[in-house]
Amino acid sequence: MANFSSVDFLHLDELLSDEERMARDTVREFVSNEFMPLIQEHIRRDGSFPMELVPQMAELGLFGANLQGYGCAGMNSVAYGLVMQELERGDSGLRSFASVQGSLVMYPIHAYGSDEQKQRWLPELAAGRAVGCFGLTEPDFGSHVAGMITKAVRHGDRWVLNGTKRWITNGSISDVAVVWANTEEGVRGFLVEKGTPGFETADMKGKFSLRGSITSELYLQDVEVPESNRLPKASGLQGPLSCLTQARYGIAWGAIGAAMACYDEVLRYTKERVVQGGPLAGKQLTQEKLVFMLTEITKAQLLALRLAQIKDAGKLHHTMVSMAKRNNVDIALQIARLARDLLGANGIVDDYQTMRHMLNLETVRTYEGTHDVHMLILGKEITGISAI
Ligand SMILES: Cc1cc2nc3c(=O)[nH]c(=O)nc-3n(C[C@H](O)[C@H](O)[C@H](O)COP(=O)(O)OP(=O)(O)OC[C@H]3O[C@@H](n4cnc5c(N)ncnc54)[C@H](O)[C@@H]3O)c2cc1C
Repeated sequence: MANFSSVDFLHLDELLSDEERMARDTVREFVSNEFMPLIQEHIRRDGSFPMELVPQMAELGLFGANLQGYGCAGMNSVAYGLVMQELERGDSGLRSFASVQGSLVMYPIHAYGSDEQKQRWLPELAAGRAVGCFGLTEPDFGSHVAGMITKAVRHGDRWVLNGTKRWITNGSISDVAVVWANTEEGVRGFLVEKGTPGFETADMKGKFSLRGSITSELYLQDVEVPESNRLPKASGLQGPLSCLTQARYGIAWGAIGAAMACYDEVLRYTKERVVQGGPLAGKQLTQEKLVFMLTEITKAQLLALRLAQIKDAGKLHHTMVSMAKRNNVDIALQIARLARDLLGANGIVDDYQTMRHMLNLETVRTYEGTHDVHMLILGKEITGISAI
């Protein structure tokens, strides 16, 4: 695997602090040296993630990297975004592992949990000694989570949960699941621990996409948890949606990493591949595609960087994140498809990473709000009319 060269056409590096550059470069090295040699084997084995890397990821501060305290790295939004970019340059499954652990499990505990819940779980999750998952989607409700069927009924100081969650990243390997359920007072979040009677998981097989990541179903049948396992400050759909905003922010950056990986690979390839007596890169049709890739990556970088500045200034609106997630994933997928095309037959084998990224990005386009749902969110924002 050739050394990775990133894109910096507009000298955006000059806008980064030393700490931000260092965070990016450290993760880039980890991905090149530790992750890339393993990924091919894990992709060939259905649904396996290189768990042996979890302690190292924790050591690098990659879990809950933008949270403060409890052993978290406390990075600013630029450094955090760059970390997500570098992880997804390796594989969307690698970034998903860190996104779920940080944005979808640690964030809700940090933002909505009791002191006891924070003390118990955050240091363990930050250190990678515990793994978590986020159970929102159900077999019958994905985009429109308000329809969720999973119920929690209060019995004194205990709750009884019933329902099924589907498409849950890391479900079967989690020590704790953040489960969202309907109650008489509206949606609430519960920490359901592995081994709780009535709580079972099963892995989902046969994925073409995100194969280097575990995806599971969660079954809850009369699962009893104490009131102390409810996230006390989470009330209504705002709870899970705020977590998704955090995760989507990371995806907006992560998609740039996947796009850069494909661009880097195909640029090298087309310079070396000889067609009709000259390099493929010397053809006008090829250059048009490469220039499109470079331009779209650069625009996506600008979007992500500005989003980070706004986030750190405390002025982030979820619709801004919708725009960045939607655009950056879309251009990454377009770039991956074009790059796959330029690689010819070589583009369909796993000696090249482009097709893996392309297939992964099909999931990234769907999860955390589909491409079209983010369009509808933005449409409502600018017209004041909901078309959902
Ligand atoms: C690999 C993977 C990992 C995942 N990990 C998690 C996880 O960890 N936790 C979790 O809770 N979920 C997870 N998800 C689920 C993911 O968030 C959902 O798949 C996503 O929200 C879309 O829901 P859906 O699949 O039910 O699609 P649907 O909601 O059924 O959408 C199907 C199609 O209809 C379109 N559509 C929906 N509503 C409208 C509308 N009003 N108007 C026009 N078009 C519309 C959509 O854009 C889409 O094209 C994961 C999914 C995958 C594939």
